[in-house]
Amino acid sequence: MDTQTITSYAYDWHSLPPALLFAGNRHDVAEHATSLLQSLWCTAKKNTACTRCSTCTRIAQRQWHGLTWVSPQKGYTLDDLDGVTRAISFALDPDEHHFFVLENADALSPACANSLLKSVEEPPAGYHFIFLCERPDGILPTIRSRSTLIRLAHATVSCSQLEILSYFQECGNYEGYAHFVRALETAAVTERECADIVDALINAWSERYKEAIVQHNEEGAAQARHALALLRTSLSHQLMPGSAKLFLKNLFLQFHA
Ligand SMILES: [Zn+2]
Repeated sequence: MDTQTITSYAYDWHSLPPALLFAGNRHDVAEHATSLLQSLWCTAKKNTACTRCSTCTRIAQRQWHGLTWVSPQKGYTLDDLDGVTRAISFALDPDEHHFFVLENADALSPACANSLLKSVEEPPAGYHFIFLCERPDGILPTIRSRSTLIRLAHATVSCSQLEILSYFQECGNYEGYAHFVRALETAAVTERECADIVDALINAWSERYKEAIVQHNEEGAAQARHALALLRTSLSHQLMPGSAKLFLKNLFLQFHA
């Protein structure tokens, strides 16, 4: 599985992988999927999108004939995927293309994911999949292993989030719990922001881990490994509405135990 950070759309019809997995915040991944599709179909400009022509407009409105955009309100049901199953049973003309974009792909149940597997693995000629998710860890391995993962550069973290982040720069004994709790009150972090914070921390600690390995800094590598283990374990618990503060407090206590 390739991992790459998106810089531009280097894809054309011939280099497209059968399935792409965009990970990033909800709004960004949808926007990137839209502009990738526009850059492929727009005939006004080469390898980029004018965003204004009727093709670009129809893609943005998800009214384009070559696009099935699935955006379930809550979790996925097999009914939500009916459109996909129906569309894919038709053979396309040569040079014709059709995209399935599945939002919130982290919400695909095993049954739903299984119903897509064969199509994702060997899509009939001209069919392509784009899965959108906030975090690739939430994607079922069966889908994830068949998709090319593209992590979108992370949305800017706000100042108050930065302050929270600063408490997780070190792992180990630390006396500042009261300060941290105060910072948490001021920041009023939502569940979404909380997920962003954990993502940002995972990125930062992964970098530090790589750096420590390069520098043969065993102590640093061990600390980073420990931090990453705590962060990843924390992600396995569902973040309930209203539980962001509690989540971060627990994480703090584990980090500085
Ligand atoms: Zn255009």
